[in-house]
This record gives sequence, C-alpha cells and structure tokens, in this order.
Amino acid sequence: IAKQLKDPSLFAELCYIDGKWVGANSAAIIPVDNPATGEIIGSVPKCGAEETEAAIAAADMAFKSWRRKTAGERAALLERWFDLMIANGDDLARIMTLEQGKPLAEARGEIVYGASFVKWFAEEARRIYGETIPAASADGRIIVQKHPIGVVGAITPWNFPNAMITRKAAPALAAGCTIVIKPAEFTPFSALALGILAERAGIPNGVINIVTGQAAEIGRALTSSPVVRKLTFTGSTRVGKMLMEQCAATVKRVGLELGGNAPFLIFDDADLDAAVTGVMTSKFRNGGQTCVCANRILVQDGVYDAFAEKLAAATSKLIVGDGLSEGTTVGPMINQAAIAKIQEHVDDATSNGAAVVVGGGLRSGLFYEPTILRDATVDMKIAKEETFGPVAPLFRFSTEEQAVAMSNDTPFGLASYLYTQNISRAFRVAEALEFGMVGINAGSVSTTAAPFGGIKESGLGREGSHHGLEEFLELKTLHLGGI
Ligand code: ADP
Repeated sequence: IAKQLKDPSLFAELCYIDGKWVGANSAAIIPVDNPATGEIIGSVPKCGAEETEAAIAAADMAFKSWRRKTAGERAALLERWFDLMIANGDDLARIMTLEQGKPLAEARGEIVYGASFVKWFAEEARRIYGETIPAASADGRIIVQKHPIGVVGAITPWNFPNAMITRKAAPALAAGCTIVIKPAEFTPFSALALGILAERAGIPNGVINIVTGQAAEIGRALTSSPVVRKLTFTGSTRVGKMLMEQCAATVKRVGLELGGNAPFLIFDDADLDAAVTGVMTSKFRNGGQTCVCANRILVQDGVYDAFAEKLAAATSKLIVGDGLSEGTTVGPMINQAAIAKIQEHVDDATSNGAAVVVGGGLRSGLFYEPTILRDATVDMKIAKEETFGPVAPLFRFSTEEQAVAMSNDTPFGLASYLYTQNISRAFRVAEALEFGMVGINAGSVSTTAAPFGGIKESGLGREGSHHGLEEFLELKTLHLGGI
C-alpha cells in the first residue's frame, strides 16, 4: 500500500498504544487482503487481552489530564486532526478502497463525512452546558454539571472504516473522554492512519489507542474492565447483544448501532423518478453493505410495473469492478461469507416465486451483480434478514395500512424511507413507522447534524448531532443548602 500513497508513512502495520507504535506481545500477525484482488496488502498485530489492558491503563492515565483541558484546548486539537484528515484525504481514501473495496469516489466521500464529525464535535465541545434547577427549599440550590463518562471502548465495523471511528472518537474526545478502539479485522489500516494523524495533530499519548487482533478476546478485555465506563459498538446484532450482556457485570453505558431491515415505501402518488434515484442511493451505496440500505422495497399496486421497469433500467447502468478503476460504481463484497449470504437470499427468493429482473449471480471473485427481484413476499429470507449486498427485492402492497404493517413486521428499527407527494400521507406514515430514522422523499439519512440510530433491536443511543455528545457525558447534581 505504502508505495501507492503520496505520504507512505500513513500506512502503519502496528498498533497505537499510549502514543507508541507497537506489535503484539507474541509478535503474531493477521494478514489483510484487498477484496477486489484477493492479494494480501499487509498485516496487523494479533493482539489479545494483555495489550488491550495496557491500552486501557494508558487511556485511564491520559483521562486524568485530558478531562482537565479546557473545551477550547480539546477543540483546537480536534480541529487540527480534522485539517490533517482533509489534507490527507486522497491517501486515506486509497487506503480504504484497497482494504475495503468501495469505489474510490465513495471512499473520498466517506473521508469528508468522517472528518465532518471531528469538526462538528470540536465545535460542540464548547457547548457542554449545565443547568440550575429551582430547589425545594428557599436556602437550597441545585446545579447540574456534565462530566466525561471516562475511558471508552469502541468496536467498529468494516463497512465504514473511517466514519464509524470518528463518529465515536470525536464526541468521546470532545467530552473529555479517552478511548481504546478495536477496528474491524478487515479494515485496520484506515483506523491506524487515523491514529497517525491524531498523533501528528498533537493529541496527547493515551487519549486515542488502537488495538488490532482477536476480536472476542479484545472485546472481553474491554467489557470486563471496571475502568472502561462506556462501550460503543457498531456491527451485527448478534455481537451487539453479546457485548451488552458482557457489559452488565460492570454496569457500563452501552451505545449500540446494530443491524437494520430498512423498508422503502413507494406510493402510487410518488414521483417515480425521484423514488428510483432514492432507491439507487439507499440500496447500492457501498454495494448494499450498510445498515441503512433499503432491504425491502415496497411498491404500491398502481406503480409496481412502471417502477420495476425504471429501477431495472437504472440498475443495469451500474458498473461493477475494482474500486480503484475509473467509473466503478459497485465494488467487491467484503468476503466469501458475504457472497454466500447474498446468494442464499437470492436462491431462497427465486425458489419461492420471485423473478430475477436484472443480475442474480456472482460475476467473479467477490463481485456480485446488482440484482432486482420482482414478486418478493414476506415469508422469504430476504424479507426477514438484512442481505447486506446489491440485491433489491420488490414487494407489492395495495393499501397504506398494509404497507405500514409490513414495514413494522421486523424486530429491527433503524432506517426507513417513503416516497409520496401527499404531505398528509408523508406525516401519517412517517409517524407510524417504528424506526429511528425516516427518509421522506430522501434516500439518505446519514448526515453529521442529525441524530443517527435505531429503536427495537437495532440499537441504543444516537450518534452525530448534539445528542451524540450526551452519550459520553454523565450528569452530576450538586445540592447546596444554607444559602
Ligand atoms: P459484521 O457482520 O458487520 O462483520 P460483526 O459484528 O461481526 O459485524 O463485526 C463488527 C465488529 O465487531 C468488528 O470489529 C469485529 O471484529 C467485532 N467482533 C466480532 N465478534 C466479536 C466478539 N465476539 N467480541 C467483540 N467484538 C467482536
């Protein structure tokens, strides 16, 4: 990788603990490959509990002074980190595409999006306001202060190797917390590059630590430590539930961004061209590998055929290929397991009556064809589980009530979308949908200023926006008497 970068020193194959770049105590390593070619592009230390405990101890030590810095001092360091991310955006994007596969243009977009959280929370750091509350007695006063929660553990996924880190680390640091980050094993280099830039920005030793290696062991060390006061996780519902259970023993605060099963409703009165654009954005971004990707596309009877035709035409124009190649719009899937799940969903759907309109199979390697399925029904796997791939199943509905009931018939509640030109319907349906986010005539719900998060089994807490900062703060109430 280093040879392909303007600044080769942004490629690190070591962990970042207490301001030092280190290997695993055992010297063991984990190889990392490029999903577009299968080629091994580097390796990272295979750390476990011991190194994680060292990182937690460093974060604990650093917390004592980091929390005492003024908001302005913390903001200035975050601003510098932001500037370095933007200045090194091309290299960060290239590292991401090489390890994750997404088209370079999308990787660039993610760097800007990821950096925007650092800027946002640098600004929010100055606005951690307290409260005074009228007391019950005349000589009493009640003052509420906000304090950083303490050392934070963060476990992040491979689909947004940059932004899922900054969306957690930036508010943590702004609040005065220190952090130990365990990036996904498939995309550690994006995380380590962020560590290099944090170091260059002058963020003190131990404030940010990055540990790569054995997920379960590192996870266990983070969740069992009484020093870690908050665990923030983005990933699968299965692992999230397990981590939440592990955090019970020390009653940690948990922030969870888990799986979704996003419905995308298109009513007869929708602007169909706008709806097609919305589905294309929501469905095929990152090859369908996001937790807010439209998973179930529900189309009303009157426009079903017309919509299917327009969507098929748009989908046929997608260009599948190596993310580094000019013009690619859909890159490879992350690994073989992802391909197996996608194919299982497509096979299950077609054997139960769905028809393939476009795509439907593997092209080569980890490249799956963008796929449109007609006549999907609610009993199919594709209706119940997140496919996490470039497959758009079209379901049919006739009434608004039916569409809402179908949408809510899932234990998940992250993103949802609806297209209609009728404003009453837009509000009625949006308010009836049991999801944390609703895109109304909008195919994207991810932006720095808005709270991002789910209800039901999709998670706990919110990231981004001013709410994202509260997740890293504790309230302390001062009761004064005899005034
Ligand atoms: P995905 O299916 O998107 O890969 P995972 O939940 O498996 O989602 O991965 C998200 C993050 O959780 C990754 O950093 C991964 O290494 C980590 N992870 C996986 N299993 C565990 C575990 N048992 N304990 C802690 N972290 C884990």
